[in-house]
Amino acid sequence: MVLAEQLVPYTGVEPDEAWAREVRELAEERDAVVLAHNYQLPEIQDIAHHTGDSLALSRIAAESAASTIVFCGVHFMAETAKILSPGKKVLIPDARAGCSLADSITAEQLRAWKAEHPGAVVVSYVNTTAEVKAETDICCTSSNAVDVVRSIPAEREVLFCPDQFLGAHVRRETGRDNVHVWAGECHVHAGINGPELADRAASNPDADLFIHPECGCATSALYLAGEGTLPPERVKILSTGGMLDAARETGAASVLVATEVGMLHQLRRAAPEIDFRAVNDRASCRYMKMITPAALLRGLREEADEVHVPADIAERARGSVERMISIGKPGGGE
Ligand code: SF4
Repeated sequence: MVLAEQLVPYTGVEPDEAWAREVRELAEERDAVVLAHNYQLPEIQDIAHHTGDSLALSRIAAESAASTIVFCGVHFMAETAKILSPGKKVLIPDARAGCSLADSITAEQLRAWKAEHPGAVVVSYVNTTAEVKAETDICCTSSNAVDVVRSIPAEREVLFCPDQFLGAHVRRETGRDNVHVWAGECHVHAGINGPELADRAASNPDADLFIHPECGCATSALYLAGEGTLPPERVKILSTGGMLDAARETGAASVLVATEVGMLHQLRRAAPEIDFRAVNDRASCRYMKMITPAALLRGLREEADEVHVPADIAERARGSVERMISIGKPGGGE
């Protein structure tokens, strides 16, 4: 795995009006819809046709009439869009935009783990590669992980991967001791640690605390909120859409946001009168920020980088995503 800090993003293009015009013109020429995850750079969010969480964007991709999807996010997200839209061309402006959480388990490791627990049901967070999804029985998001595990008969063993914080949250909420949790995590977790979160909440006693659970970076906050380390009346665990609604409705003058810092852009647009602050402004995903204005322009000009998922893997992976959708509440942003 190439570490994020070793990657050099495409640069040299200013996100000015000429850039915006060329992006829009090329998108039209290519019959492309441009989708941006909430943790993208502000200029990428602003030029996109749609912004949202990964699963909501994948569903928009599947429903869109456009024949090409330009997915401004990280690689597993573009793969999920391809899995749900196999007939469309899916591009990611920089295929090196990975995810440390998705990289924390490979399909081979999962197969070996399954062999140690024959008959167990595999539940994987959506932050996984297509190959891992193909080895999975049911996918989950952090919004529905508890419901997904509850839908599995109590006597069946469950293998939960790859996020250990989300897995610990699921074990605690379901009270099941037959849920085995893979020890994976996202590197952005380091930026949102428990003591820091509790300190910030204590020194801003009037602020609400918004925790967005969709991306792996917020699952440690989810865990801390559940175990009572944070004041429960001020903690709001919200999807993207719920967070934007709550921003418009809250009476609080300030809000601490425990997630990747890209989300602040959408929140400030929704409620400019509120003082939104990151719990930790180092909580920035370098992989997400690989999608620069230069990368997007290159992607549209060269129709690169195209995302391919072998048909057999896509079919099996689609099954695990569709089983999740049938259980309900799959989205983080709806
Ligand atoms: S913030 Fe973490 S979980 Fe989210 S894309 Fe980046 S590395 Fe992956």
